[in-house]
Amino acid sequence: MYQPTEFQRHDTASQPQESQDRSAARQFLASLYYPKAPVFHAFDLADRGYLYDLSSGAVLSLTSEAATLLKAAEAGEVDGLEDSELDEAGEALEELQLIRELGFLALPDEESRPTVPQTTEALLDHSSKSTQILVQTSCNLKCSYCYEVKNGFHGTGKRMPADMGRAIVDFAFQRARKRGVVDINFFGGEPLLNFELVRELVDYAEKLGVEHRKHLSFRMTTNAVLMTPEIADFLVEKRFGVMVSLDGDPSKADSNRKDHSGRGTSRKALDGAKLLRDRQRVAGLREVTARATLFGENSDRQNVLDFLHGEGFRRVMVGSAGDLEADPAELPASEPDPVEGVEGKGLTALRAVLGMKDPEERMRHVHERGLSPTLNHVRERLQMADVAPSISCGVGRNTLAATEHGDLYPCHRYVGQKEYVVGSVEDGIDRPKLAAYYGTLLSGYESHCRKCWARILCGGQCAWERSGDSGDITGPSPKYCDGVRSSMEAMLALYTESQPSLLS
Ligand code: SF4
Ligand code: SF4
Repeated sequence: MYQPTEFQRHDTASQPQESQDRSAARQFLASLYYPKAPVFHAFDLADRGYLYDLSSGAVLSLTSEAATLLKAAEAGEVDGLEDSELDEAGEALEELQLIRELGFLALPDEESRPTVPQTTEALLDHSSKSTQILVQTSCNLKCSYCYEVKNGFHGTGKRMPADMGRAIVDFAFQRARKRGVVDINFFGGEPLLNFELVRELVDYAEKLGVEHRKHLSFRMTTNAVLMTPEIADFLVEKRFGVMVSLDGDPSKADSNRKDHSGRGTSRKALDGAKLLRDRQRVAGLREVTARATLFGENSDRQNVLDFLHGEGFRRVMVGSAGDLEADPAELPASEPDPVEGVEGKGLTALRAVLGMKDPEERMRHVHERGLSPTLNHVRERLQMADVAPSISCGVGRNTLAATEHGDLYPCHRYVGQKEYVVGSVEDGIDRPKLAAYYGTLLSGYESHCRKCWARILCGGQCAWERSGDSGDITGPSPKYCDGVRSSMEAMLALYTESQPSLLS
């Protein structure tokens, strides 16, 4: 039977024993209610209860009785528990008491938590390793889900002049300050439309690297349609990290991925990506990451994964484009995303994996369904401290994007949305403008995400997805948040079932 603490006995001394016990139990559970910033999340899935403890990053298995009590505590609904439920909950209450005594369910140290202005200053003073250079703000393709088409800069056909490219590389070195590495990410449009400039800027950056004693790393995001043996050799020689947009089986993917004449391009893209991948494999380098976008007729995640794995791609990321017209918040981010590939049908598949009793079979399906990167992402995020206010990505810092005019945008997704220009290569960062941008994002985090149990795992919705065309930045979309929280419950359960229970 649950024994109330001395403090709780004092409050209930004049009541009959049974009533004292209930009252103490209610007090204990009510003391776990943290409406401003939840410190835990209790849930059940596939007939098992779980507790995710934010400060320790632990995920514990719970009895379903304990999970029921903790869910009521988390929701501030202890008064709604029936007396009979509490009378029968002695062991579950002891379980929770023990968990508390072990140091879980603890209040965070609010005193040392940075404020929004302090965090804004820290972000502004950050020395950034990476800069995105948009060497060509047009593309050889016209994909039906492309955000660049929506932004209106897709068809502008602008090539970055060489002197602007060099000025941006200079700027990238200045931004890195004392950092030992400068990372340059070639982006578009389609960067291979201006490959000569890529080559020239790599050469220029290497000279600066020697001068300033800095290491260099290069990255590129491309559709690979224009890949040639010469380009592939260059990318291998310079050890580029490459992400290629590949949507899978051409018979389906071509419904979205056409060139300007309306011809499908998926086969050419696959051939181009393989050309590079095979050379990377021989050189022992990290192979291209295939980034697939689910959209329209090509929305079957498992088919896309099976096809790309069948074509020999080992590194595959799948995301959903959703319905562009219905909800821009559905657009995929280019960076790894905690919900990537596990919303909608993906979530159903994830729950099916979770329901598998045989651990080996479960893990085989985790690999086959491409869930390992998301599981690893969850594992990493669990180890992070709750130091919000937070922004989920390097926006305005390591994703700063420079265009052919020298405009600086917080990331490539903003390019073409003039309200979000945060400086220029010539004049540097517009500090008040970037401070105002960060301040709005962080305040949104404080008013929305701070109350959310998934805040450490999620970090907040993509800033661009929260940004309206006229410069207004809103809180996260409820639809997005529901998807993240459902996915995270499934991922946490899967994570827990993949390793020995801490309490068993
Ligand atoms: S974006 Fe939504 S799910 Fe993510 S932390 Fe914020 S409120 Fe939670
Ligand atoms: S704002 Fe969104 S698209 Fe831009 S870097 Fe961050 S996650 Fe990616």
